[in-house]
Amino acid sequence: MNTANHRLLRDINLSLVLQMIQEQAPISQRDLVQHTGLSPSTVFTLINQLHASDLIRECGYATSSGGRRPKLLEMNPEGGYFISVDLGGTKISVGVLDLVMHVRQQWVYSTPPEGGESVFQKLMEVISDTRQYCEDQAWKILGMGICTSGIVDCLNGVVIEADNLGWHDFPLAERLKAALGFVPVIEHDTNAAAYAEFVYGASRGQSNVVYVSIGTGIGAGLILNGRLFTGSNDMAGEIGHVTVEHGGPMCRCGKRGCLEAIASGPALARTYVQRSRATPGADGVDGKTVIALAEQKDAVSCEIVTDAGKKIGHTVGNLTNVLNLDTIVIGGGVMAAGDVMFSAIKEEILSVLLPRMRDKPHIVKASLGPSAGLVGVGALSLARMFNAVSLSDVGGWS
Ligand SMILES: [Zn+2]
Repeated sequence: MNTANHRLLRDINLSLVLQMIQEQAPISQRDLVQHTGLSPSTVFTLINQLHASDLIRECGYATSSGGRRPKLLEMNPEGGYFISVDLGGTKISVGVLDLVMHVRQQWVYSTPPEGGESVFQKLMEVISDTRQYCEDQAWKILGMGICTSGIVDCLNGVVIEADNLGWHDFPLAERLKAALGFVPVIEHDTNAAAYAEFVYGASRGQSNVVYVSIGTGIGAGLILNGRLFTGSNDMAGEIGHVTVEHGGPMCRCGKRGCLEAIASGPALARTYVQRSRATPGADGVDGKTVIALAEQKDAVSCEIVTDAGKKIGHTVGNLTNVLNLDTIVIGGGVMAAGDVMFSAIKEEILSVLLPRMRDKPHIVKASLGPSAGLVGVGALSLARMFNAVSLSDVGGWS
């Protein structure tokens, strides 16, 4: 085997050992040998390399049935950092995450309301400030990821349609490459949140998951056979545009009767205003207000929120029948506000599931809150690092 092949093999093995430590920590060298199938001397050499790069650390001793107790290893949180950006229609969140995906620092900026080029300029400014902050802290940056709202072709890094950012066929990857010299991970915000919940949150350890986000829009992220499923052109998960009412209200996608046009935050508010025209000040309500009123047992709001929950549950239940999912995670800004909607969703899912599937799925609320998108793209950046094969440039690019 020539030198290049030796190096490649070493890097693949290094990546394998590091990933195993990330997934199974705390773990002993003996268990790493067992799980990876590599020889003890190879694992020993790789562990020394990872120690030298500060990526792992010792964390106590395993119990022993006799002889010396083996040392346990885990990721070193401070061994490297990731910059994550969550681009939304009203705000841009930026976080610096450590190697175990804890958000160590976070800032929130307003999205320029004029949209278009000014959003990109703001993004550049925010990235530059964050890099400077990391440099001041002497934090080694290992990767960067950006998640965005709208319809995104992640493979080519093009934001096809993001009305609230004023981006249409916006070549985000190309622009970032020209400005930064590399392309960060680019992902749809719902997929990023789904991945975060899968790796660190409510659906950890499961294999077939749908994460449903209910907010200004309704979207879903799918994990199938343990991997993020994005479809043939990265548009999987558009559950908000499933038709649930023929001839129903007009949706922003141009169709009528989409789930989003009936059960999203703005749709709840619109229905509430229509039904309670006599209520003074009703015009100022948003989705969260209607959810809060439902929690306080306001009859009109309860009915609206329950109806919306049933429509969501019906759609998600049918999807679960199609894909035989094991976990359904319900999240998003509107969902976070209350239990009335969650109960309605859960009840309806159970009513449409095939009898043999009814006992199987866990139906749970999302657990990572509004930083799920940041954690998700951080985790995807880390996964890219594992998949990059070569860790030889783990010194970072900051
Ligand atoms: Zn639609």
